[in-house]
Amino acid sequence: MSFRLRVFLLTLVVAVVATGATAWLSLRLTAQEIAHTQQEATRHVADIAETVRSYARRHGTWAGVSDRVALLAADNKQRIRLVNLYGQVTVDTDTLANRAARPVVSPPTLINPRPALALDAATAERAGGKIDVVVLDELTRYRRTVVYSGCLTENGREPPPVSPDAYGVPFPALNTEQDPDCARRADDTQQYAGDADLAAVTGCRAASNHVSCLIQAFGDRVDTFAPEPLQLFLGAVDDDPVTLLGRPLAASIGAVLVLAVIGTALVARHMARPLRSLTAASRRLAAGHLDTRVRTTGRDEVGELSRSFNRMAAALEGSETAQRRLLAGVAHELRTPMSNVLGYLEALQDGVVPPSRELFGSLHEEVLLQRRILDDLQDLTLAESGHLAYRRTDFDLADLVEAGRVAHLAVAEAGGVRLTAEATGPLPVHGDQDRLRQVLGNLVTNALRYTDPGGAVLLRAFPAGDRAILEVRDTGCGIAAEDLPFVFQRFWRADPARDRETGGSGLGLTIARQIVLDHAGTVDVTSTPGRGSTFRVTFPLHVDV
Ligand code: ADP
Repeated sequence: MSFRLRVFLLTLVVAVVATGATAWLSLRLTAQEIAHTQQEATRHVADIAETVRSYARRHGTWAGVSDRVALLAADNKQRIRLVNLYGQVTVDTDTLANRAARPVVSPPTLINPRPALALDAATAERAGGKIDVVVLDELTRYRRTVVYSGCLTENGREPPPVSPDAYGVPFPALNTEQDPDCARRADDTQQYAGDADLAAVTGCRAASNHVSCLIQAFGDRVDTFAPEPLQLFLGAVDDDPVTLLGRPLAASIGAVLVLAVIGTALVARHMARPLRSLTAASRRLAAGHLDTRVRTTGRDEVGELSRSFNRMAAALEGSETAQRRLLAGVAHELRTPMSNVLGYLEALQDGVVPPSRELFGSLHEEVLLQRRILDDLQDLTLAESGHLAYRRTDFDLADLVEAGRVAHLAVAEAGGVRLTAEATGPLPVHGDQDRLRQVLGNLVTNALRYTDPGGAVLLRAFPAGDRAILEVRDTGCGIAAEDLPFVFQRFWRADPARDRETGGSGLGLTIARQIVLDHAGTVDVTSTPGRGSTFRVTFPLHVDV
């Protein structure tokens, strides 16, 4: 599976799980919220229905109920619609609020303000023959109350509160007969309804179930005067929270998912792009295009990988260049002595030059030089690749300096150069004595080689802080300032012709520097042309504890 696909799938899984979890959580919370709201709504319905019913009972009419309903709607933050059984609207708070009435959803709640006679067989038994009179009284009083209260309401006055009496019929709490006009109207009603009441009640005498016939008769008679039953609707389609949830939520989840998929694909593409270019670049590198580099952006891991790749490519290119230069150098170095040898051999063969002791001596020297170059090259290659074996021991650098002086004394004397040593010991160091002797030997040989007879070479060793200093100072020809940076480069010689004559390979200082570096040391040179040079090497002092 490709990296890009893997990133895509992984991110997608995370996105889908996160979206799903969020959706599930919001659904759950919303469902809880809805359940809570519905409970509240049910409670509201009962409260509102009871308030509206009480209004009709007290006022004996539905007239003027809209003000009360408007207040109720505002208090409960509900839309309220009251409709009679024939579908005629009594009040709708939508209409009151000057908006089009929205369609209703909930099943209606019936509000019946008409009293039902609360009469049971036991009570009827107790009343005996007077039960008809009792029912007639209840009918009369109810009618008077309802007409009187309705009249007061129509006249803009507040009727007295009512509460049910022993037979469940609303009974005014106060004297109801204070408005003469309304009292008269109640009396009038009584006059033309009284006979019908009597007929209905007495009609029950022959009934098989006297009590339920009386209840029925009461209900029928009351219907004519009492406010009609109404249906109560609450809420409207567009504020029902359940409808808010279904499709819109699914749509938004879908949209989030689509966005997640697109986003994930883009992320995967973006992440895979540097890797693809790295792959292409490493293929080009493997095919030998060592100048291949990739674009590096950002400080993240991929950016770091690109930088590492570029460093690796640069190192490869550098090492190849170095290798090529080394080969060219080696070829160049070996060509001169080889040509010399070849020339002499051909001349000998052709009889142009007579064989002589000196000639063979010279040929021998050329071959020796070639061998030295090859030996030094081997040392250098080993040293630079970190494969030169060091046998490290603790020893005194002062002793090494003295030994170096003794070893080169004969050559110095032969060259007419004064060789002296000054060592302030002890200078304990930890390293390979033979290799460090080789370093010192190289420096002393050079110093003697580039110092004319009558000159002097001084070897010094002394401590400086936590380091041991080793100096080789000569009063020789010196090195030009512009040449100083190249002194430690392989095959570099200030004067190639002359130096080769002296038997130098041009590798001595390069090897010496590598050995010093391998001993955690430093080496540098200062020189004044015509006055002499000073090579200074430092090593860490090794103090035993
Ligand atoms: P070689 O074996 O040819 O001497 P080195 O690496 O030892 O090679 O030295 C490189 C070159 O540095 C020499 O050819 C010479 O030109 C210059 N050099 C080194 N030491 C001295 C010195 N003490 N005085 C002047 N020139 C020096």
